[in-house]
Amino acid sequence: MNFKVPRGTQDILPSETWKWQQVEQIIDELCDLYRYKEIRTPIFEQTELFQRLVGDTTDVVQKEMYTFTDKGDRSMTLRPEGTAPVVRSFVENKMFGYPDQPVKLYYTGPMFRYERQQAGRYRQFVQFGAEAIGSADPAIDAEVIALALDVYKRVGLTKLKLVINSLGDTECRSEHRKALIAHFEPHIGEFCADCQSRLEKNPLRILDCKVDSKHPLMASAPSLTDYLNEDSTRYFDAVKSYLEDAGIDYEVDANLVRGLDYYNHTAFEIMSSSEGFGAITTLCGGGRYNGLAEEIGGPSAPGIGFAMSIERLLLAMEAEGIAFEDPSALDVYIVTLGDAARHPGFKLLGELRAAGIRTDMDYMDRKMKAQMKSADRLNARIVLVIGEDEVTEGVVQMKNMAEGTQEKVANSDIITALQEKLN
Ligand code: ATP
Ligand code: MG
Repeated sequence: MNFKVPRGTQDILPSETWKWQQVEQIIDELCDLYRYKEIRTPIFEQTELFQRLVGDTTDVVQKEMYTFTDKGDRSMTLRPEGTAPVVRSFVENKMFGYPDQPVKLYYTGPMFRYERQQAGRYRQFVQFGAEAIGSADPAIDAEVIALALDVYKRVGLTKLKLVINSLGDTECRSEHRKALIAHFEPHIGEFCADCQSRLEKNPLRILDCKVDSKHPLMASAPSLTDYLNEDSTRYFDAVKSYLEDAGIDYEVDANLVRGLDYYNHTAFEIMSSSEGFGAITTLCGGGRYNGLAEEIGGPSAPGIGFAMSIERLLLAMEAEGIAFEDPSALDVYIVTLGDAARHPGFKLLGELRAAGIRTDMDYMDRKMKAQMKSADRLNARIVLVIGEDEVTEGVVQMKNMAEGTQEKVANSDIITALQEKLN
């Protein structure tokens, strides 16, 4: 029997994990800089949470969820996105009562969507997302967008495009909805089955359809922008002016809808404009979701957030040819000769590690020459050689690999000598 990694998933091997760790470290540092605190929610939730919050008519809920019945006969779903669980936790833990509002949260972890695999699209992928819940100040929309952009800038990406739109509030959405139904209804037979079923339930979804995106009625569909009421327009203008304060360039795209139901007012995407990036250019998506907490029985708590996958961020870095600094070089490799040197060598290994010196030694009973080769392969900066004579004498031979020099160092001086050499 040949076992393979499930379709749409991938093993992240040691030759790659260090890149992920660096990105995750940048994310943690930036969130700290912006005062967003990490939240960790379960990998699965009640199915109904996503049906209610992401929306019954979205692709995510209709086609992409990993749903299963547990042994207690409850329907559970592997989380396809992070906002619904965070809002659930916000309500359940009464974070609306925290003295410091808005509550600013972030998460990094795996999400699951049953999708057709292609470059940049996986069935398990890691999303970093941030949410600011409890404020309807347009300035926080700009802050959230700035945070997302900063992550990309910190890793070195330069070919970025921010696209924003306003989806308006309930009032404009309802007027726009009527116009959409009137627009599509006479020709709905020419659209896919999903669009047909969405016409009455959620016509805005039709605009986000990937099957019918080329139908001429798509381009001529009534634009939400024409239905924005005064409040929504004022809000959108304020967000734009705060973006300008932050020195952030943007493009307005009246057709930007987003694939999840919960958005209102601000919607945005960050795309890569790098030529090598391929078909999928969206790196990050987000928007405002006033009313989401109320949807699951919480108090009014307007929020805004975004999510980006680390996979697409790494692809964008590759497309722009950005290299990571490889941290894998070892400080010290200990080479031992003969049985008498084994225990002293192992003891020294522990002492060096306790002093914060990244050290390794041979566990394959290799001969001296092969141990030296290992040290080379591992890029050790310094090799300490211990033989029987050295043990008797209470010293080690210290070889500086870059300089090609060798000197004898007394056991009591090793750590100081190494610290000098390694700094
Ligand atoms: P798309 O239109 O590409 O399907 P989406 O609208 O479904 O994106 P969101 O739900 O807004 O995406 O998720 C936010 C971000 O998560 C995306 O911009 C992308 O970076 C990432 N993402 C979404 N789905 C996947 C996936 N299957 N594999 C890798 N990353 C993904
Ligand atoms: Mg999608």
